[in-house]
Amino acid sequence: MSDIPSIELPTGLIPEDGRFGSGPSKVRTESLLELGVTGSSFMGTSHRQPTVKAVVGAIRGGMSKLFSLPDDYEVVLGVGGATAFWASATFGLIERKSQHLDFGVFSGKFAKVVEGAPHLEKPEVIKSDIGTHPLPVPNPEVDLYALTHNETTTGVMMPIVRPEAEGLVAVDATSAAGGMAVDPSQFDVYYFSPQKVFGGDGGLWIAFCSPAALDRIGRIHDSDRWIPGFLSLQLAVNNSIKDQTTNTPALATLFLVRAQIDSMLEMGGLDWALDRCARSSEIVYSWAEDSTYAYPFVTNAAERSTNVATVNLTDEIDADVVAAILRENGIVDTGGYRALGQNQLRIAMFPNVNPDDVETLTMAIDYIVERM
Ligand SMILES: *Cc1c(COP(=O)(O)O)cnc(C)c1O
Repeated sequence: MSDIPSIELPTGLIPEDGRFGSGPSKVRTESLLELGVTGSSFMGTSHRQPTVKAVVGAIRGGMSKLFSLPDDYEVVLGVGGATAFWASATFGLIERKSQHLDFGVFSGKFAKVVEGAPHLEKPEVIKSDIGTHPLPVPNPEVDLYALTHNETTTGVMMPIVRPEAEGLVAVDATSAAGGMAVDPSQFDVYYFSPQKVFGGDGGLWIAFCSPAALDRIGRIHDSDRWIPGFLSLQLAVNNSIKDQTTNTPALATLFLVRAQIDSMLEMGGLDWALDRCARSSEIVYSWAEDSTYAYPFVTNAAERSTNVATVNLTDEIDADVVAAILRENGIVDTGGYRALGQNQLRIAMFPNVNPDDVETLTMAIDYIVERM
């Protein structure tokens, strides 16, 4: 990276909150303060006792409400984030063969885990060019279709539509859930970590499971397949029903997720969240389209994520330098995903991010680029 010129933004061009990272993402300060106020009554108390169990219960109930989940869907929680869920699914959700849509680093990672599993057949992996997404292809041999609602590394989103086939639909919704529309009848498992849209913290996974998914989990659990207890989805289901987790969760994460759900429900639920994301993304993409030096990385406007915008810069302007100057000014985590190798900025537009701050950010970038 070239030397970083020192450019100081005028105060009017500094967003009220400078966190634009795609995960960990902006956590509401109100939630942090609320946690602080609990003092000695929550942190440092047993996760098997009513105080913490009530928070887990509130997360389960709040998620059902937020997503209008059918009564027979279960909200399941486990420790380890979406990455742990991939391992759990490899052990306890895929019967023999899965199909993966691979269109970025995260969707590719799940496929890799499955490829190495000695108890499964080689998965079918359907790739598309970076910056686009493929579609699932019905295959009678496939018993699980692995989709990704929003590929956080590339800023591509795809609608969640059940393929016309037997087989479960498992959706990685890590940077989508809570910021994109989804119809529960179109998935069997919708799983995510809460440090993205839900402005919580990492280390947890949450999965909405349909009756068919719960059936499958039970059947594989009862078979003679070896499953490490930590990764057992059946144990996760059994514990979640009791508002607990198999092993010790991060209590602060639980608290922040509960506070976030409450605030989203108070603001108007998923409709409110979707509207915030739509406004922010409209601001970013129209700015990039009108810009002489920036343009949206994703060519098909329908595939441009409303939650994570990827914006390329022309070759003369080093995006890493722009991100570094922004950081000097307190505006953090706007750099592109390294492994993608693009001259790119990546801006999270989760519901916690104020669209006014997004607007200010675009003006700040213009100001910096003019002076570079
Ligand atoms: C961040 C992310 C992950 C990984 O989440 P961890 O909590 O770090 O395991 C997986 N999938 C997607 C789409 C993500 O955005």
